[in-house]
Amino acid sequence: MSLLTYSAPGSAPETPATPSDSTYPRPSPTPEAAAAALAGRLAAAAAQTDQEGGFPTAEFGWLREAGLFTAPLAAVLGGADLMAPAHTLTMLRTLRHIGRGNLAVGRVYEGHLNALQLAQRYGQPAQVRRWAQAARAGHLFGVWNTQAHDGVHLEPLPNGRFRLRGSKTFGSGAGHLTRPLITGTLPEGGWQMFILPTDEQPATLDASFWKPLGMRATASFRVDLTGAEIGPDDLLGQPGDYYQQPAFSGGAIRFAAVQLGGAEAVFDETRRFLRELNRLDDPYQKMRLGEMAMLVESGNLWLRGAAEHAARPTATTDAEATVAYANLVRTAIEEICLRVLPLAERCVGARGLLRPEPFERLHRDLTHYLRQPAPDAAIADAGRFVLQQPTPAYALWNA
Ligand SMILES: Cc1cc2nc3c(=O)[nH]c(=O)nc-3n(C[C@H](O)[C@H](O)[C@H](O)COP(=O)(O)OP(=O)(O)OC[C@H]3O[C@@H](n4cnc5c(N)ncnc54)[C@H](O)[C@@H]3O)c2cc1C
Repeated sequence: MSLLTYSAPGSAPETPATPSDSTYPRPSPTPEAAAAALAGRLAAAAAQTDQEGGFPTAEFGWLREAGLFTAPLAAVLGGADLMAPAHTLTMLRTLRHIGRGNLAVGRVYEGHLNALQLAQRYGQPAQVRRWAQAARAGHLFGVWNTQAHDGVHLEPLPNGRFRLRGSKTFGSGAGHLTRPLITGTLPEGGWQMFILPTDEQPATLDASFWKPLGMRATASFRVDLTGAEIGPDDLLGQPGDYYQQPAFSGGAIRFAAVQLGGAEAVFDETRRFLRELNRLDDPYQKMRLGEMAMLVESGNLWLRGAAEHAARPTATTDAEATVAYANLVRTAIEEICLRVLPLAERCVGARGLLRPEPFERLHRDLTHYLRQPAPDAAIADAGRFVLQQPTPAYALWNA
């Protein structure tokens, strides 16, 4: 497997020059450029894996070859430092490009970024080196936190290790991720992260859990971890670290970026469809396309806002504002997507909603992926925050 690594901004390019351009070696593509270059290929292949039990395995090979598995690693670990606050806009646009190619790939790749961000933030140096090595070797990470009544428990063994009992639900990439970051309850009640090498300790997958409206290709199965064992080296951070703010709720800007990619795909396909039918002169179609362009661009402005807010020096200390702003971003982008979908459907009509046109899949995928945890609480919490602020509206988010 040939893995390209990205140069940190400003550093020397690492990709060897090809003979044809040896005079002017090209710099390594940024993750954003690599993702943009992949989007069309992902979109062209998306229908093939759109089935229950499907997974975009080949697509993740493309991401790996494009260096996107290692992009979230710090530069010293061979990555592009994509998760650094200063690179937030690049990170969000990278996710948006992957999302416009295939929302299922975007969902799983977002988990990879999240897991490697958590690993680098809370891991001990030796652990970080080990997990970075795994990412460089092509292991796909993810985060499995959601669970039902029979959630995961870590049961201590006399030899200092832990035996796992219980299941996760919505385990995206189940059977394909080899380094899921999982959460579970310690005997004293703490919520503990660990990274399980599932290639060595396979879990029991229940694919019957995943009979979804959309996002079929994420393979978000129920995963029973009962009987697997982990050692102290597999534990990540301290109990409760997973929910530390602003990182936990602030991370919503990442799924919002993927979702916006879905809205962009709907926009692009609608325009393509109308062009093919030569329906460009109708005033109502023009009006709808104008409205869709306004909505999609608003989403992109929200990504800029999200990146600026995440990069301010007080982003971590002023956690409440960071979380409130992220809650606005996810709410606004949800609203944008929910408005783009019916506009596109009116544009393309019943004929456009037949396969092999992509609209029915895009509709199912985006509609399902928009369902993220506690949407009402998210916007209500932003409301609570602004109610407490004495600052006028123009200065609310500039602190
Ligand atoms: C495609 C896909 C892939 C996923 N992959 C993963 C994954 O890999 N790892 C992972 O951990 N999770 C994953 N998830 C799960 C995801 O993170 C959320 O947990 C899930 O989408 C939230 O589902 P929900 O809509 O049922 O949320 P809920 O929060 O239950 O929201 C449903 C509705 O109930 C309301 N509500 C919320 N709480 C209450 C309450 N206490 N009382 C009354 N109403 C309430 C909400 O406001 C909303 O209106 C995935 C989800 C999807 C769709």
